[in-house]
Amino acid sequence: MEIMDGKALAKSIRENLKLEVEELKKQGKIPKLAVILVGNDKASQIYVRNKSKVCMELGIEYEEILLEETIKMQELLDIIDSLNNREDIKGILLQSPIPKHLDINEAFRRIKPEKDIDGFNPVSVGKLCLNQDTFVSCTPFGILKLLEAYGVEIDGKDAVVIGRSNIVGKPMALSLLNKNATVTVCHSHTKNLSEITKKADILVVAIGKKHFVTADMVKTGAVVIDVGINRTDEGLFGDVDFENVKEKASYITPVPGGVGPMTIAMLMTNLVKATKNS
Ligand code: NDP
Repeated sequence: MEIMDGKALAKSIRENLKLEVEELKKQGKIPKLAVILVGNDKASQIYVRNKSKVCMELGIEYEEILLEETIKMQELLDIIDSLNNREDIKGILLQSPIPKHLDINEAFRRIKPEKDIDGFNPVSVGKLCLNQDTFVSCTPFGILKLLEAYGVEIDGKDAVVIGRSNIVGKPMALSLLNKNATVTVCHSHTKNLSEITKKADILVVAIGKKHFVTADMVKTGAVVIDVGINRTDEGLFGDVDFENVKEKASYITPVPGGVGPMTIAMLMTNLVKATKNS
């Protein structure tokens, strides 16, 4: 069994990006990220702070747009439009969740596909579905990079994804399908879940329930990717019962230190790509 070290891989990706950013700057192409944060969600504030730190580390310019909880939809759309129209801004990120009275799908739709480094615009998702070049949602993109770095073959494998959210499960399933895996997507209505997971060569778990996947649900030799982030008083836990599942897996990601650090590295990868394309 090998533990997939997302922290180390993310670090080496960031180091390479830093060099690319220097090169781009020499050509007069300055990467700049705009992050929109609406309201006072504590977790979002932490995520945004982490993104700003990584930008600083890589020499990427960063602008934060802090909006009141009470902002109207039209005002939010106007702000997105103004960022869309600014030449200096190469990537736009709307931190979710946003307050309930706002329509997040409309907001994501408004972000220009060329600046949609999160890959949440329907155009980006549609291109992923059609297996065309696009910005892929950063968590699935990071998982693909991890699999690639550890030499995990995807072609022809049985892949099972638990979770079908727009930001993780669905783009993950599409990405694995594009790499020629035979993909099964499970969710809260799935019957006989463990019968399905036991067939998986590659099992991706993204549901948000601490230690939901137990050793009896996993085939010996499976590659197990744990996306879950469950914060409890005892600390941070994944969706997979790591200690027991690792005895059966061939490769497994830890939480923390697996998928999490990859997500932000891929966001920066997408930003550098958007800058190159601009
Ligand atoms: P969502 O809550 O949007 O989706 C959860 C999915 O899990 C849904 O599709 C749901 O099914 C499914 N599900 C819930 N319970 C069960 C069950 N008992 N059996 C089978 N399926 C179930 O979550 P996200 O996709 O946004 O995130 C999932 C986890 O990943 C969270 O812990 C989140 O914090 C973490 N995360 C981690 C990231 C990282 O960088 N490491 C990035 C993004 C998320 P249904 O659709 O039927 O409701």
